[in-house]
Amino acid sequence: MYNPEKEVYAPKKEIIKIQEKRLRETVKFVYENSPFYREKLKDIDLDKIKSAEDLEKLPLTTKEELRNAYPLKMSCVPKDRIVRVQMSGGTTGQPVIIPYTRKDVNQWKEMLLRDFMLAGITSRDVIQITPAFGLWNGGFGFHFAADAIDAFVIPIGAGNTRNQIKFMKDFGTTVLCATASYPLRIAEVADEMGVDVSELPLSKMLLGAEPWSEEMRRKIESKFNVRAFDIPGLTEMGGVGTIGFECPERNGIHIWEDNYIVEVVDPETGERVEDGEEGEIVYTSINREAMPLLRYRSGEISAVVSREKCECGIEHMMIKRIRGRTDDMVIYKGVKFYPSDIESVLFSHGVSNYKIEVGNGIRVIFEGDQDKIHEIARDIKEFVGFKPKLEAVPFGVLERFEGKAKRLIRVG
Ligand SMILES: [Zn+2]
Repeated sequence: MYNPEKEVYAPKKEIIKIQEKRLRETVKFVYENSPFYREKLKDIDLDKIKSAEDLEKLPLTTKEELRNAYPLKMSCVPKDRIVRVQMSGGTTGQPVIIPYTRKDVNQWKEMLLRDFMLAGITSRDVIQITPAFGLWNGGFGFHFAADAIDAFVIPIGAGNTRNQIKFMKDFGTTVLCATASYPLRIAEVADEMGVDVSELPLSKMLLGAEPWSEEMRRKIESKFNVRAFDIPGLTEMGGVGTIGFECPERNGIHIWEDNYIVEVVDPETGERVEDGEEGEIVYTSINREAMPLLRYRSGEISAVVSREKCECGIEHMMIKRIRGRTDDMVIYKGVKFYPSDIESVLFSHGVSNYKIEVGNGIRVIFEGDQDKIHEIARDIKEFVGFKPKLEAVPFGVLERFEGKAKRLIRVG
């Protein structure tokens, strides 16, 4: 049985030694086995790629390239070694397919076992998995790890919120795995059913798949009386929970640097930015087999927080929690912002259902009292830098989501 402790708390020197070895192996492996990368890297002296620093000499890999590689053109292994595929987001055009070998599935599981260890999840837990079991990566990722520790698994999948609540009560669910906004929907439905969610045996939540604010976390934790962890993940990097996990001291997200190399680049120029500066996260997967990716542009916005040993004892580097995605960025009157920035302000005023319409101007529609408009507008102006049009609507009017919430609407 895999014991994550040694790798999670490995000293920096050891982590970097493994990282550099795996980077060299991965560059060689993709060059030899992927026609896509052989073409892309043909003019580069690959012997010079020895450490994370050297990655800058390589071109970036884009989602468009992955889309064009449909179905398996970027796979580095013959089809008979592939044991499954998952699919990445995006609703238009060719799907982005990520193939896995047995080793890749094990790697996915092992990364999640690191996360489970940090969250204190054990075989005594009852784990309810609410993301879908299908081509999207959520359901299965959680399942592989929950099954490996012999926990009591409830693979209920997405939707049917009433049933979710019934099962939580009847089976004594202690850990809920979900998209970040789902617990708030669960709380609303529980209210309708006369169930007090703070009385449920739930003690932990692993929440991800969308950027969510600290204010939203506070609301979820106080309502449910749980500890809510941010679990990042990207199908292209192997799925939920692979790239890293939230620092137990809540200083940010520790990246599993022996498996992934993270760079932060300017989304417009693709050039690296300084530590501490915000930009687009670029991932290189160095411990995957069917489809390792070099310098993959994730669209996620974050910044490097620290490369030093953290007060939690972990020496893997740390980035900020994801603030947004490049696709969700809005530029208005020269101000750049993400929906999560507005969400922070709304939650601090007790608002949890809202949508943002972007067209000629910015309109924020929220469920709540008319008399809050003035204060919310003032705080958005102060925090984000402009004053949107605000509209208050009665509770229950706006659309509810059981998966990823779609709160940003572009009109006109
Ligand atoms: Zn830490």
